Amino acid sequence: MTKYVYDFAEGSKELKDLLGGKGGNLAEMVNLGLPVPPGFTVTTDACRAFLRCGSAPYGLADEIALHLERLERQAGRRLGDPADPLLVSVRSGAKFSMPGMMETVLNVGLTDASVAGLAAQAGGDERFAWDSYRRLIEMFGRTVRGVPGAAFDADLDAETPQAVVARYKDVYRRHTGEDFPQDPHEQLDLAIQAVFRSWNAERAVLYRRQERIPADLGTAVNVVAMVFGNLGPDSGTGVAFTRDPATGERGVYGDYLANAQGEDVVAGIRNTMPLQELEQLDKRSYDELMAIMTRLEEHYRDLCDNEFTIERGKLWMLQTRVGKRTAAAAFVIATQLVDEGMIDLDEALGRVTGAQLAQLMFPAFDLSGRPEHIATGVAASPGAAVGAVVFDAARAAEVAARGTPVILVRRETNPDDLPGMIAAQGILTSRGGKTSHAAVVARGMGKTCVCGADELDIQPGRFTAGGRVVSEGDLISIDGTTGRVYLGQVPVQPSPVVRYFEGTRDPHSDALVSAVDRLLAHADKTRRLAVRANADTPADAARARRFGAQGIGLCRTEHMFLGERRTLVERLILARTPGQRDAALAELLPLQRGDFVGLFQAMAGLPVTIRLIDPPLHEFLPPLEDLAVRVARAEERGEGPGEHLTRDRELLDAVHRMHEENPMLGLRGVRLGLVVPGLFAMQVRAVAEAARLVDGARPEIMVPLVGAVEELEAVRDEAQRILRELGVEARIGTMIEVPRAALTAGDIARAADFFSFGTNDLTQMGWGFSRDDVEGAFFTRYLELGIFGVSPFESIDRDGVGRLVRIAVDEGRAARPDLHIGVCGEHGGDPDSIHFFHEAGLDYVSCSPYRVPVARLEAARSAVTAAGSDTR
Ligand code: ADP
Ligand code: MG
Ligand code: MG
Repeated sequence: MTKYVYDFAEGSKELKDLLGGKGGNLAEMVNLGLPVPPGFTVTTDACRAFLRCGSAPYGLADEIALHLERLERQAGRRLGDPADPLLVSVRSGAKFSMPGMMETVLNVGLTDASVAGLAAQAGGDERFAWDSYRRLIEMFGRTVRGVPGAAFDADLDAETPQAVVARYKDVYRRHTGEDFPQDPHEQLDLAIQAVFRSWNAERAVLYRRQERIPADLGTAVNVVAMVFGNLGPDSGTGVAFTRDPATGERGVYGDYLANAQGEDVVAGIRNTMPLQELEQLDKRSYDELMAIMTRLEEHYRDLCDNEFTIERGKLWMLQTRVGKRTAAAAFVIATQLVDEGMIDLDEALGRVTGAQLAQLMFPAFDLSGRPEHIATGVAASPGAAVGAVVFDAARAAEVAARGTPVILVRRETNPDDLPGMIAAQGILTSRGGKTSHAAVVARGMGKTCVCGADELDIQPGRFTAGGRVVSEGDLISIDGTTGRVYLGQVPVQPSPVVRYFEGTRDPHSDALVSAVDRLLAHADKTRRLAVRANADTPADAARARRFGAQGIGLCRTEHMFLGERRTLVERLILARTPGQRDAALAELLPLQRGDFVGLFQAMAGLPVTIRLIDPPLHEFLPPLEDLAVRVARAEERGEGPGEHLTRDRELLDAVHRMHEENPMLGLRGVRLGLVVPGLFAMQVRAVAEAARLVDGARPEIMVPLVGAVEELEAVRDEAQRILRELGVEARIGTMIEVPRAALTAGDIARAADFFSFGTNDLTQMGWGFSRDDVEGAFFTRYLELGIFGVSPFESIDRDGVGRLVRIAVDEGRAARPDLHIGVCGEHGGDPDSIHFFHEAGLDYVSCSPYRVPVARLEAARSAVTAAGSDTR
């Protein structure tokens, strides 16, 4: 039979799945011999069974009775004994901490019959006993029977506690139609069931969705003998951290509240005092607490966050857990623990994440001027954005077009808001969480977003928040990393970590930068995946190199056809004879050569993968409307067939001729190279000539959009001829971005020196999603429905698109063992995807320059942490 209940002494932190974080850690403390009130844990198994059938599973009641008896023996008191009652707390505790999301009921077991007994235990303190009863009725009423919290209100100083209890019992009866239960065992059973049910409370469901915590884990329930911090000045309750969770500094951090029960600290009803002052108040308990914290740190080898209560000079530990911390503190603490000999550098890599490093690279607000903080929402997409408030997408686009930075403020966004979102510096909404439309789209665009700031009351032309009225045009500042909203223009300061990467800040200048320096140095020694950058200009390439890139994995050549070079492309498109076409290409050649020289210089000694032109050529032509208007105007004016008009007419014809219903699936990539004679050849020649000019140039030529080996062979033959002619060595490879290429990778590998996965297109074509359309249109709904937990453009879809990747790696390597394989889609900079690429056996990832440090760190983390390690 399944065991549903564990005494604390039977558990351990390794049983977190079953006992939840709180229960596992209480057990751990008991086993360390620390002072924990006796108790037991009802497992998540029991919770899941309860939620499945709506009633307690068979055997649970007996098991609870058995463990309660044991608890009673340890405590030396019995539940419901009128003369000397045992009281317990009933506390939720899931595997992953969900602060404040689920329920806890204190003082369970108190009844009309046992109040006097409790008073006697407290040395005749009637006030304390009745106040405890009052708390029970309120918490039980709210939690177990859903009585609205506001129904319980009392002026605790004006009424006697007895009178408040009488009134609260009335409130309870009025809302539930029943008397407050006078059977302590019934109280216990109902409280346990209420905690089970709180797993599915709306706010808990929302929180899990946001934090990507699986919905089917269930919560454990801890039943713990009550100890009392509200028995007078020699009692109290508090929280204590072993290090500062904000900066990582060592020291004593915490708050203490004398003569109080735990919930008072959280409720913020009374002012707490700094934990240090407890030393004066109760030196013995303070010293014991310090010794326990040292012990816990040594045991967990990490920062611990603790809750404790002192009952008449006796210290009790009520909770410990590995504490949450800021991104900066995570880096600092990880290296401190290394220096203290508690963990090694490999383990330190498991204590920080790429997401944290990315956070540290964003510019941040300089808060030294104490800006006015008016609201807080969900930190949905990081960054620091300042702008004038605008309430309407069209208006945002209009104002931004005049050069005024704007923040788009909406209750929520929808696909019609896209132009405004693109134009805005940042997006602020009053509704919705991390998977709302605003959040999904902003993350996709790398734009700062704070959403669900529900303090915002948005009306036409203005909003109120924090007692302030903010009108259209007023400046606000939003912090997508913390979710905070400030009034006015808060100055932005560059990230010290980026300045360190840029070489303008000494690595030993402060604890954070030196921690980042050390951990990345170790990451570089540890990782198997190489990290390259996607860069098209010498400036980007140089930055990427400073950020640690080991080459360029993707140079897009299309930008080299823009600007004044457009006219050359137009000539190429309009060419009617091979001679005209060759002339246009001949003019493009030296320009391209110059582009590549700059890149090779910036990356001297390192490989540079150059992708031959990918987008459809008509993207380089003027828009249809412009041309049509130009031609119509000229004809109206009766202009003769002069040079301009003829050319515009020709262009207009070309635009019509080359129009595609589905450009993403049209004449682009390798297809273009095979249809426009000389185009790819010109690019290959430019690469080769540039390579001859630069010492240490290591070019690689990459063919986009290949679906069949024959396509690649045709391009390859021509390219090899040119390279041979110029005496230049270069690998020739292909993108794997069309599903057919992945499925025929074994054939394609015969003609390819390397593969580079273009996971944007592979996702687009694998799912049949047009990225530009679907994210704004319906991804929010898909995320709500749980069809995927995160956009497949953000994090690679392991099961589908990932399967194509694995097939291509396996079959490509089988055909050609020395095949070099990387990825150059945006997934190359996404932590989760990097772990997948490591597992799939790729040789490198390539990502945007700013993601390079993140990728270095995550590549190393994949190498040292077990697959799928938890970073929550
Ligand atoms: P949360 O998960 O929200 O932190 P807890 O289960 O930790 O909820 O309970 C909230 C507070 O109630 C604790 O911080 C503690 O102060 C108090 N508490 C819980 N159990 C007991 C107990 N057995 N004796 C005294 N106080 C308790
Ligand atoms: Mg707690
Ligand atoms: Mg592509």
